Amino acid sequence: MKPPARMLLAVPCALALIAAPTTAWSADQPKAAGAATTTTATTTAKATASDKAKSAAKVAPVDCAKVKCIALTFDDGPGKYADKLLDTLKKYKSKATFFLEGQYVKSRPAFAKRMAVEGHDLGNHSYTHPHLREVSEDKIREELTKTQELVKQVTGKSPTMIRPPYGEMDDRVKTVAAEMGMPLVLWNGGSRDWATRNEKAIYDEVLKNAKRDGVILMHDWVEQTVKVMPKLLTALQKQGYHVVAVSSLRGAKDLQAADIYPVGSEKDEGLTADTPAEDAESAESPVDGL
Ligand SMILES: [Zn+2]
Repeated sequence: MKPPARMLLAVPCALALIAAPTTAWSADQPKAAGAATTTTATTTAKATASDKAKSAAKVAPVDCAKVKCIALTFDDGPGKYADKLLDTLKKYKSKATFFLEGQYVKSRPAFAKRMAVEGHDLGNHSYTHPHLREVSEDKIREELTKTQELVKQVTGKSPTMIRPPYGEMDDRVKTVAAEMGMPLVLWNGGSRDWATRNEKAIYDEVLKNAKRDGVILMHDWVEQTVKVMPKLLTALQKQGYHVVAVSSLRGAKDLQAADIYPVGSEKDEGLTADTPAEDAESAESPVDGL
């Protein structure tokens, strides 16, 4: 039994608080904390209680009630470019939400584990990406519980939300979500990354759809999405956004089992249609054993 990722992260955070009172936004970076320890070693002892209090205030979790937040969500992964994406998210001090597909958690367990350890939200996106409205209730249950158990086994953390493939749901999907005690999370802004496969188009579409507390749909198997991410995060941060996991957004804090979030998203046919017509990764590239 491994400790939750939050506990693992608490160690470098605590070190950074003591050793690097002026590098608040780097505090969750073990590398930054290590470097700061070296450069400030001789002065650390002089840090006052008030310095520490100031640092604690700066590294407090992002409060989306006070600042402008947005959530980038990545479906169908862990995708083959997930490690590069995780490097970028770390560099830009950003958090994401990954709606994982069981079959790829099985083939890329190290990526899934890293997502958990680095404090991103994990969601359940079924095991093989079927159209849930076209399968039996038992199959819906099997797809979701199998993924739930595998993610827990691989990462030590259970997914906390469900995103049904293609954003498709019905009363049976809601029943299973209620049984599993999880909310259903869709999106209210697309990137059309799977369709355009073009860095500029993805960048423009996300910025066009960006709004406070927005939930953006992307895919970590689309190479151009991962490539454009530094530029996109720079632009979002320049516009004052804090890029956070879904669970940090206003309105997502107290979601109950089978709640649908963002409010009203399930009624937007245009949005739920904004998803690949099939499991694009397995169509173009069978599980590669990474
Ligand atoms: Zn999907």
